[in-house]
Amino acid sequence: MKKVDVDVLVIGAGPSGIVSSTYLNNQDVDVLVVEKAKFPRPVIGESFIPRVMDHFDEVGLIPAIEEAGFEKKWGARFIDKEKVCVFDFSDKFGEGWNWTYQVPRADFDLVIANEAQKKGVNIEFESEVTAVKFENDNSLVTIKDKDGNAREITAKHIIDSSGFGRVLPKLLDLDAPASVSGNSSIFTHTKDINRPNGQEGTLITFDILETEVWLWVIPFSNGVTSIGVVGPTEYIENLSSEGDAEEAIRKAISLSDFYRKRFEHNSFLFKPVFLKNYSCSVSKLYGKGFVLTGNSSSFLDPVFSSGVAFATESGILAAKLITRQLNGEHVDWEKEYAEYIEKGVEVFSTYVKEWYTGNLQKIFFHEPANLDVKRKICAVLAGYVWNEENPFVRKHHRVLSNMAYTLDLENEK
Ligand code: FAD
Repeated sequence: MKKVDVDVLVIGAGPSGIVSSTYLNNQDVDVLVVEKAKFPRPVIGESFIPRVMDHFDEVGLIPAIEEAGFEKKWGARFIDKEKVCVFDFSDKFGEGWNWTYQVPRADFDLVIANEAQKKGVNIEFESEVTAVKFENDNSLVTIKDKDGNAREITAKHIIDSSGFGRVLPKLLDLDAPASVSGNSSIFTHTKDINRPNGQEGTLITFDILETEVWLWVIPFSNGVTSIGVVGPTEYIENLSSEGDAEEAIRKAISLSDFYRKRFEHNSFLFKPVFLKNYSCSVSKLYGKGFVLTGNSSSFLDPVFSSGVAFATESGILAAKLITRQLNGEHVDWEKEYAEYIEKGVEVFSTYVKEWYTGNLQKIFFHEPANLDVKRKICAVLAGYVWNEENPFVRKHHRVLSNMAYTLDLENEK
């Protein structure tokens, strides 16, 4: 077996791996990315939130993304029958980006991977990490190429950005129960032949079918729209009689008063995919010589589109801390990495949980809207969940349930 030495080995070339490796490469750190798939490859996670732009910007990926002409996302709409609540990212509390993108991920990930390579990042596609051993100060990583040839690489640090591949959580037995309960989803793409002109045609929408069940509609700039249904696993399984994912998503579309007409006769561009119980977590986010980023560490729920932003937040932070460590500085991984990431995840989990209890929906659809509250919630939905000046971040544990309770009392009057 041939041996190669690198300072940092990144597993996976999704947004997390690309942002971390591009950051490291920009700092002249010796980094290698190994990616199991051949790009473009299918992947879900098509609606971004503005926080992600800070990370793409910091590593210099925005011009290439802009050039690719993806649909810009200025906000998001939530619908509950006749009630509508629109968040506009430009009207939010505090600083931060006012817009982001909604993208077919296969194309998007190819664009950023290509750009990272242009900047000098070394990515080996169709190479799968199959084993890891930690020896002294380094790790010994076994990589299998597409022809089945194995080789070993020694690395000082591993960044595991393998998404749902969850390479190190599986190899090191780090899996832990997720903080939010198991939902499932069925999704597909369709050529949006009945797409209306103007903003209606491009707005991302979350259409509530029942308190715990919702449909997503994400229009892309190429005329294709992504449609998905999310809900408790049992509900999603029962949408069709014999586990037929196409029948199930057609049933979900038929339950949407808003979208039935637009999509009921559409054909789908691929067989609808059923993803079951996707929420996941880990018992620790780092260890000697490794760090977990993105979905490899945890995934909550798609309801507020936070997955990619957390993937890039953790990816860039891991890369920064490793750079400092390689430069001889002391890094307190618990405080500077784990506590920071967990804090953001905790805020988002409250919002996810309160969405499914119905409390957040009560606040969203209350009339007349409290614009100050809306701005503060909008900042959270934009991903600025570390801004302690925002009381909807600082007091996230109580503020939503208290507010929903007050609205209930008001309604009883
Ligand atoms: P990924 O993008 O999954 O990349 C991981 C890469 O690692 C892959 O390319 C894979 O091939 C590679 N890999 C895996 N195993 C190995 C191995 N052994 N060796 C080498 N490489 C390997 N997020 C959003 O932000 N917005 C959304 O609208 C959204 N919707 C979602 C809907 C659903 C139903 C689900 C389940 C998730 C959704 N997400 C969404 C979450 C989103 O999919 C992820 O958070 C995001 O893709 C994570 O990025 P990543 O870079 O961590 O991993």
